[in-house]
Amino acid sequence: MSDLNRLAGAPYAQNARPFFHGEEADAVGEVMASGQFGHGEVTEEFERALASYLGVPDVVAVASGTTALQIALAVASVGPGDEVVVPSMTFCATVQAICATGALPRFAEVDPRTMCTGSDEIEEALTPRTRAVLPVLYGGRAVDLSRTRDELAGRDVAVIEDAAHAFGSRRADGQRVGATGELTCFSFGPIKTLTCGQGGAIVPRTEEDAERARRMRLLGMIESPVQRARSISYTVDGPGLRAHLSQINAAIGLVQLRHIDEVASARRILWTQYEQGLKDLPGVDLVDVGVSASVPSMLAIHIPHREHVFTTLRDQGIGVGTHYPPNHLQPAFAPWHRSLPLTERIGRRNLTLPFHPLMSGHDAQIVVDALAGALR
Ligand SMILES: *Cc1c(COP(=O)(O)O)cnc(C)c1O
Repeated sequence: MSDLNRLAGAPYAQNARPFFHGEEADAVGEVMASGQFGHGEVTEEFERALASYLGVPDVVAVASGTTALQIALAVASVGPGDEVVVPSMTFCATVQAICATGALPRFAEVDPRTMCTGSDEIEEALTPRTRAVLPVLYGGRAVDLSRTRDELAGRDVAVIEDAAHAFGSRRADGQRVGATGELTCFSFGPIKTLTCGQGGAIVPRTEEDAERARRMRLLGMIESPVQRARSISYTVDGPGLRAHLSQINAAIGLVQLRHIDEVASARRILWTQYEQGLKDLPGVDLVDVGVSASVPSMLAIHIPHREHVFTTLRDQGIGVGTHYPPNHLQPAFAPWHRSLPLTERIGRRNLTLPFHPLMSGHDAQIVVDALAGALR
């Protein structure tokens, strides 16, 4: 195992953490030696490698999952005054990306069993002002959105998937998340299944969308960085962000992608070990990620007496978390509050247990035993 994985404490002390394969530091060293830090050859190689892994013609790499969402919304022409249906049960980044475009979040319920917003929950939240729906593939679950797509066909409503948790997961038909659908966004942040340090990607469905995303990630300039290096001037023809993926980050991602199958199987095995241990604990509901087809990114449960369990485990040095505090209850999003009883209920009961590929089945059992103790 790589020295890069040296730990300060026991693996179960951390809720999530990156997993390295040992070649990342050399890959970064090569980029540093080249002196080319910005967008460049290595970034484009990473984009081609992602496209080939997902089985799609094109992928646009960006600086983070949040900017991927922001750019995807802009590519779908979502703007001020438009409504975007989004689960309240997601990382605040999803909602901030919507707000950054000037659009209004319309919070939707989740299915407590999966923590995902499916076709029923989306349908309930649609209004005449809906311009996009932005479901989140919680924990890596490859939510089936085919009914939503059918219902929205012919209406001017984009379906953008927040697949920050779902890199590598497959749908029932065997296709990877990102291989189908309209616009899919991934995050390669520090604790995601594949990490670039920071990074993200958009999978566009058309060449035109890809081109719009490419311009927007680099300040709205028409010329590619390679063209710009050779020309005397450049043209800015629309809005833009500073949201390209640096070569340093892309180099890390390229190494990580070469090892993704090992990581995926380690995550599935750990999830199943937890499942075995948790099934005899009364009052504990394990959130279903559809482990046979997905690459689980976290392990969430619903439990009674959450405050007590959280502090008891934390005081034993176990890295518990809550994913997520519902967004419709956040002060920043109060203008779009509406009553969401299921989300509010699981928002009080949800706990995530330490989950990352450095953990063994033995580590998982330590966590399960501590949880059983706290619930007694
Ligand atoms: C991590 C995450 C994001 C944001 O990605 P960053 O790379 O951190 O910007 C968005 N949505 C969800 C559900 C996430 O977990």
